Amino acid sequence: MKIICIGRNYVKHIKELGNEKPENPIIFLKPDSALIKNNDPFYYPDFSTDIHYEVEILIKIKRVGKSIPVNFAHMYYDEIGLGIDLTARDLQSMAKAKGLPWDLAKGFNGSAPISNFIFKNNFNVQDVNFSLKLNGSLVQASNTSHMLWSIDEIIAYVSKYMTLKKGDILFTGTPEGVGPIKIGDQLEGFIESKNMFNFEVR
Ligand code: MG
Repeated sequence: MKIICIGRNYVKHIKELGNEKPENPIIFLKPDSALIKNNDPFYYPDFSTDIHYEVEILIKIKRVGKSIPVNFAHMYYDEIGLGIDLTARDLQSMAKAKGLPWDLAKGFNGSAPISNFIFKNNFNVQDVNFSLKLNGSLVQASNTSHMLWSIDEIIAYVSKYMTLKKGDILFTGTPEGVGPIKIGDQLEGFIESKNMFNFEVR
């Protein structure tokens, strides 16, 4: 499986990082070795001193597709989840400054803690509230209606370049409020009022 992520999909987050609004979705990948499940802890690595949380709605792809038209994209997923696109901001800033790839800043071990998935039947996926608490304090809260590119538009765009396969996971971008984590922190994520994950940084 692969983990496909979109960068800069919420206007207020683009502004907080001082980035420009892109013409097309910015796509990057994480390896499957980045996954953390079942509320297992994240172990802070020694190669970064500035790892940030970015809470994001996840989509699990349910069947193979390529060059999927936007109006068919909804047939390629049934389940949504919540995850954190953990980002070594120091490594990413160095890479950006030199025009180099972000892979190590975004794809290191444990950089993709994810929740279990829930069926989307009860949701309009473009009107879902989601949030993140850090040590019990709300740090990120948004709604999928604020995405620049909708989930179906992302699927259509990515599948022109990469065939989507059953089990692939899409990270749909983070809203404003990103910030650093440290050892001992507790990260708790919600879709609407449902607790989706709760894990510790060690
Ligand atoms: Mg992100």
